Order: sequence, then structure tokens, then C-alpha cells
Amino acid sequence: MERRQSPADIGAKNKATQLMSNAEKKIIYICKRCGSDQITFDATAYWDVEKQDFVLTSTQDASWCGGCDGEASVDEVEVEEKDFAEITA
Ligand SMILES: [Zn+2]
Repeated sequence: MERRQSPADIGAKNKATQLMSNAEKKIIYICKRCGSDQITFDATAYWDVEKQDFVLTSTQDASWCGGCDGEASVDEVEVEEKDFAEITA
């Protein structure tokens, strides 16, 4: 039997959707060995005269961890804005 939504249900659902969209997701890279997020990647860039800045043309898989000062194997982790603040605090 189909359950009809009461106005309260709909309100709760809308609120949940709003909370979801407000929580901004960010991707961070974490070193599998030490858990540091001080990861740098090898990349190729060119100089854009108009922007007066470097523009990445590609990034390589090779990464370096500032935490253990060595080649890093990284995990890509999706976090919410508030989690991100806690991690970097
Ligand atoms: Zn590390």
C-alpha cells in the first residue's frame, strides 16, 4: 500500500535536501602511510600570458608526501566542509 506523504514528511524531506546541498563536498588526498595531507603531485604546466599564471596541462600519478618525506601512495577521500576544517585544524 502506498504511503501518502503528510506535509510534515515533505517539510522534513526538503530540509534534508537543503542540508545535503549546503554541506559542500571536498576531495582531499591522504598519504596511506602516515595520513598526512601534505601531498604534492608531478605535473606539466604552461605559462598563460593572458592569465599571467601557470596552467596545468596534465598531472601525473607520481606523488610526494611532505609528511613522510618520500614517494606517496595516496587515498582520495571525500569530506564535507566541516570535516575538512577538523582535519586541517
Ligand atoms: Zn606520508
